[in-house]
Amino acid sequence: MTEKDKLEHILKDFPPDVKLIAVSKTKPIEEILKFYETGHKIFGENKVQEIVSKQAVMPKDIEWHFIGHLQRNKVKQIISFVHLIHGVDSFRLLQEIDNKAKQIDRQVQCLLQFHIASEETKFGLDEPEVKSILESDEFKLMENIRIKGVMGMATYTEDENLIRKEFANLKRIFDHMKKTYFLMDEEFCEISMGMSGDYKIAIEEGSTMVRIGSALFGERNY
Ligand SMILES: *Cc1c(COP(=O)(O)O)cnc(C)c1O
Repeated sequence: MTEKDKLEHILKDFPPDVKLIAVSKTKPIEEILKFYETGHKIFGENKVQEIVSKQAVMPKDIEWHFIGHLQRNKVKQIISFVHLIHGVDSFRLLQEIDNKAKQIDRQVQCLLQFHIASEETKFGLDEPEVKSILESDEFKLMENIRIKGVMGMATYTEDENLIRKEFANLKRIFDHMKKTYFLMDEEFCEISMGMSGDYKIAIEEGSTMVRIGSALFGERNY
């Protein structure tokens, strides 16, 4: 299959408002360019060093999404170009993003990452933590971040019912936040959920952004 076929194969059952983030982590530039040349311009990476080095040499109209765990001391390296930071999982990280964005007079788009999986290992916030962030005076004073929505990862399992339940929970959290804090904010509209193995379920449960790596690029060799 050509890169165009691979994209079309995945996009064929997408509702029109769902965005595809092509997760290019570990993949070389030549392979990413093959997808870029079909017209796809949205790519996701999960390591700061890798996104920085790829962004430096690749076409400037690419939308770079940072989908990994972001350490505060590395925010500075991606702040000037990152299109959307998916994994904001602490208040201190949000403050650092706001600070660094302020220094370069930029608005930076973020998603709040929720812990929705039953596994212990996944990063993310819970609802009481997000409530305390959003209701704090410090948050209200932040001028350089835009909260675009939420992100989450389901448990890595064959159990489709469990995956569906976890995605449905993230959708419920999104709806509740929208109603409670972002009703008048049209920008709060994204639910980033779904990967190669579970994106169809995620879309059925209301995803607006899926992050797909191996189903497009093939298995990763670390
Ligand atoms: C690697 C990664 C993906 C893509 O995973 P695939 O299973 O290869 O599609 C999606 N989201 C995050 C956060 C990732 O780290």
